[in-house]
Amino acid sequence: MSSDARSAVLEVDLAAIVANWQTLRLRHPSGPVAGVVKADGYGLGARQVAAALYAAGCRHFFVAHLDEALAVRDAVPGAMLAVLSGLVPGTEDAYIAHDVTPVLGSLDEIAWWQFGREAILHVDTGMSRLGLDTRELAVLAQDHARLEGLAIRYLMSHLVAAEVPDDPANQLQHQRFASARAMLPAAPGSLANSSGIFLGADFASDLARAGAALYGINPTPGQPNPMRGVVRLSIRVLAVRDVPVGAGVGYNATWTAARPSRIATAALGYADGFHRSLSGRGSACFDGTPIPLVGRVSMDLTTFDVTDHPAVQPGCWLEVIGPHLSPDDVAEAAGTNGYEVLTSLGRRFQRVYRTA
Ligand SMILES: *Cc1c(COP(=O)(O)O)cnc(C)c1O
Repeated sequence: MSSDARSAVLEVDLAAIVANWQTLRLRHPSGPVAGVVKADGYGLGARQVAAALYAAGCRHFFVAHLDEALAVRDAVPGAMLAVLSGLVPGTEDAYIAHDVTPVLGSLDEIAWWQFGREAILHVDTGMSRLGLDTRELAVLAQDHARLEGLAIRYLMSHLVAAEVPDDPANQLQHQRFASARAMLPAAPGSLANSSGIFLGADFASDLARAGAALYGINPTPGQPNPMRGVVRLSIRVLAVRDVPVGAGVGYNATWTAARPSRIATAALGYADGFHRSLSGRGSACFDGTPIPLVGRVSMDLTTFDVTDHPAVQPGCWLEVIGPHLSPDDVAEAAGTNGYEVLTSLGRRFQRVYRTA
């Protein structure tokens, strides 16, 4: 008997993340490519990812919230570390104490940040979430004094549909960004996210902000993925049983055996971020062969029909994300996107970081 007590192992290939960053840099020669490590590095470990990118020479990082910045600050000494979600009043001292750069997205935030220090200015060109809106931009354009003493490190905006190259929103946002820049004091620009880097030279800027593509999500959906896969999630088969014709499997018996079947139960469920919407739709891989998921995904367990795969035995490992099943593949079966698949990954896995 094996004494290996692990039931699920998440391997993160930091070397592949660095290789993806290098690929993106070649695609964006107009300026550096920042590493976006919000949401704990898209679920893969912000500190580990940031440290690996930093060791490779990356000097620009973005997170969503101040807490996330404080959690990675010492892993990226001296690098720009910016918080995308805007400045919350009362947190200015923490930004200064930890050398974190705020992304200012309203006239109020600009007024609160009266420290004459560096900040990124965010203009809304179509997302309608954060960033200076048209009215605020007009006020600033008339009154540059409101920006007095502020060192605008970058003027940034965010694309709403960069992964759809012929979406007219891209050109519109490009124009709005250019006119916003013309209205404000000269500053470097930052526009493209991962997919934006692949929109071509018009969308190149002084700083790209890449998240998804670093983590192996295809920035060019419908085209071959130019990025390397970085995640492998392996789950252990806990039990295999024979079930007769008519036997139900899992909650509410949404699958019943139409033939004498072998059912493998594996250690993974929706509590691990394996979406319940994969019930009856997902799959796993054994030795490179796809194995259908049957019945409901439950909290801790998932069932697979291994009738045609006699080699699957208790103790075997199944791949649920990896070389044969990308996060995008899992997302398609689950009715979501690769971002949600990665950021949902649970906390119960044994995590292994590979650096070569
Ligand atoms: C998350 C985010 C990014 C990174 O986007 P990807 O599509 O993951 O590359 C860039 N900019 C902003 C403002 C973001 O919120």
